[in-house]
Amino acid sequence: MGEFDLIKRYFKREPRRAALGVGDDCALLQSAPGTQLAISSDMLVEGRHFLSTVDPRKLGHKALAVNLSDLAACGARPLAFTLALALPRVDEAWLDAFSEGLLALADAHDCELIGGDTTQGPLNICITIFGEVPVLEGKSQALLRSGAKPGDDLYVSGTLGDARLALEVFRGTLSVPAPVFELARSRMEQPTPRVALGLALRGIANAAIDISDGLLGDLGHILQQSGVGATVEVDLAANRVAARSLCTSSAGLPGSQIALEQWRSWALAGGDDYELLFTAPVAARDLVAKAAQSSQTAVTRIGRIEQPSGLRLVDSQGQALPDNHTSFDHFT
Ligand code: ADP
Ligand code: MG
Repeated sequence: MGEFDLIKRYFKREPRRAALGVGDDCALLQSAPGTQLAISSDMLVEGRHFLSTVDPRKLGHKALAVNLSDLAACGARPLAFTLALALPRVDEAWLDAFSEGLLALADAHDCELIGGDTTQGPLNICITIFGEVPVLEGKSQALLRSGAKPGDDLYVSGTLGDARLALEVFRGTLSVPAPVFELARSRMEQPTPRVALGLALRGIANAAIDISDGLLGDLGHILQQSGVGATVEVDLAANRVAARSLCTSSAGLPGSQIALEQWRSWALAGGDDYELLFTAPVAARDLVAKAAQSSQTAVTRIGRIEQPSGLRLVDSQGQALPDNHTSFDHFT
């Protein structure tokens, strides 16, 4: 199968929202009046972001999920995406599964594949996604990293640290009961982008980011770009590791011995969570709860934004804990 047959077979579909989809030199996307385009790219490299043994259906899901997560963090509604793909060879079974996983998530978010590029080379997947945010009275409604205010509550969505636990099991540094591994593995391989929550938080949250490199590292971006500091109650985050309750209920089995310090570290610096971390005024607590409810997404308050710069970690008694957590950086 040649390049053009491959594109036609796996990636070309009737355009829906786009004025012009796959097949010409450019795709055409009509932006609605009174909106801005939100644009983001993410690249997934074999051996770096995924293991060569991963199920291609799940890889297709994850490649788009990490991009949708960026739109979610901006409070943008997904519109369309492009797919740049390097493939070592044409493997039809792989392409079948990959495109199914990818397009199923795309359809679930009404986000259309409108173009891309296909070339031979080491497996590499790069998606650029386009979303839209309203502009009201000249003001963009996008959620930014730079909007956190002293006194804001700090919240996180969903669960934390499970992807990291799965990675440790894959690396062979840890052994846990099968149901614990399966739960953690699905969080690692098929993250849920919090698009509905991001949309519901427009006009409520002051700042937001999605957690890809670990909670504390990504919180650092909010603090730096907002010129504020924060206190995080560590165990409120550590309690959000979904695998933890499963582990502690299986006394005597491998995994039930994992120390509190380890759960804390995975929750705070595990990475690959794709949850939203956001701040909102104390007066907006009811509105945050409503946004969580309407988007059917769990939201947990884990700390507070403060005027003095820097990050302070405390236990449930308010006692200071050391911050020895480093977040993920490709070049360090
Ligand atoms: P060009 O050479 O003009 O850049 P290509 O021949 O690479 O165009 O691609 C032909 C058409 O197929 C274009 O519309 C392009 O956007 C689309 N396309 C190429 N690869 C993909 C892909 N992996 N997924 C979706 N569309 C693709
Ligand atoms: Mg061209």
